[in-house]
Amino acid sequence: MSEDKCPKCNSEKLKFGSMEQTGMGNLYYPVECEDCGFIGKQWYDVVFSGYTDENGEDVVITTSGIKKIVLKSKDDVALLDATLKETFGE
Ligand SMILES: [Zn+2]
Repeated sequence: MSEDKCPKCNSEKLKFGSMEQTGMGNLYYPVECEDCGFIGKQWYDVVFSGYTDENGEDVVITTSGIKKIVLKSKDDVALLDATLKETFGE
């Protein structure tokens, strides 16, 4: 199954809504197919991948201590921050 195709008719004319978080380690996008009228949810599992600090910089723990790396996309950081807050609490 492909994430950019309708699960019912295989069309690529999908209309996505805003991401919703369940707080249970996964999230979904409401989706509607403009060809066959399929309405449903597209699910993603949220996998822990690290921490960022308040400046949006990756905090990476190495054997010699904590090292900071700047992420390339601020959008990635915001999404990860929101996901971590939802998953682990403020
Ligand atoms: Zn369809």
